[in-house]
Amino acid sequence: MSTLWSDHIAGLVPYVPGEQARIPNLLKLNTNENPYGPSPRAIEAMRAALSDDMRLYPDYQALDLRRTIADRFGLAPDQVFLGNGSDEILAHVFNALFLRGGRPLWLPDVTYSFYKTYCRLYAVPHRLIPLDEDFVLRAADYTGAADPEPAGVIFANPNAPTGRALSLDEIAAIARARPDSAVVVDEAYVDFGAESAAALIGECPNVLAVHTLSKSRSLAGLRVGYALGGADLIAGLTRVKDSFNSYPLDRVALAGAQAAIEDEAWFDRTRHAVIEAREQLARDLRTLGFEVLPSQANFVFARHPQRDAAAIAAGLRETGILVRHFRVPRIDQHLRITVGTPEQCARLCAALRAWLSVPA
Ligand code: PMP
Repeated sequence: MSTLWSDHIAGLVPYVPGEQARIPNLLKLNTNENPYGPSPRAIEAMRAALSDDMRLYPDYQALDLRRTIADRFGLAPDQVFLGNGSDEILAHVFNALFLRGGRPLWLPDVTYSFYKTYCRLYAVPHRLIPLDEDFVLRAADYTGAADPEPAGVIFANPNAPTGRALSLDEIAAIARARPDSAVVVDEAYVDFGAESAAALIGECPNVLAVHTLSKSRSLAGLRVGYALGGADLIAGLTRVKDSFNSYPLDRVALAGAQAAIEDEAWFDRTRHAVIEAREQLARDLRTLGFEVLPSQANFVFARHPQRDAAAIAAGLRETGILVRHFRVPRIDQHLRITVGTPEQCARLCAALRAWLSVPA
């Protein structure tokens, strides 16, 4: 290890996204990308943005896009924050909101692994709160008296990699019980069946809902995310961002994001297709002997009671299908499988049927 590095780098475990393998006829069901393309209007808008105007800096306040997003949620533009993917927004969240006098951050034991990476990066003390035996986050675990009060609470809703979601009432109970904590709800998958905590912002200025265009808008390649929250939280995030790189998004991303968000018809059609395919996939996996958790996301979380999850993932890989297996305690016998088109899901199930030797 380099002696030129900062001290805290030594213990840092970089977050590794799912494999981006180059295999012929690859079926990639490992990183929760959307099987349907982005809105054609978004592609068109991005092409149009590639003009001589690229010599000009983009609008550093990104006011048009923030206004469009704000209107969609009944909020004001100063309640919207933009970032280069929601991962970047989360970095600003850890930096701006969770470093408060050594107070801990509370988070579930099974959730998006990036949060723990950021705890290490920013030296945020944290307390892991176990999900119940069915991977349900119990709101009551987050509402009792605490000394010290947490600086913040963070969880994904629907949770990753489980796909299970809390109701708006449960999120409200947490936010109301912890007015002195930033309650950050990562809503990367919310459009596939859960309720957005954005509806609570008027009543609970401590709530921040973090969204991405990578999943339900099918623009993972563009790297655009946004956060919705009380104006005070957003001002804190902006203070950090502006000390770092004042331009939230480039001209192409601004144009593409704007058009994608405006194309409600494409958004609704594609996300409903994913939801339908998810329910069919869950049924088909159960027929093959898998236990499948109920999912409100664009993936399912499943385990086979008799077969090793790593071996199943390796077997699928040999047929050119990638699914996600985590070598992490508590979930190392599960697979997280992204919902594809009905045809892709059928290819997956046929490969599983053959590997498991289940008669047709
Ligand atoms: N949050 C969760 C729960 C995720 O699964 C992901 C995608 N891996 C992200 C945030 C990051 O999404 P992006 O940076 O593409 O916006």
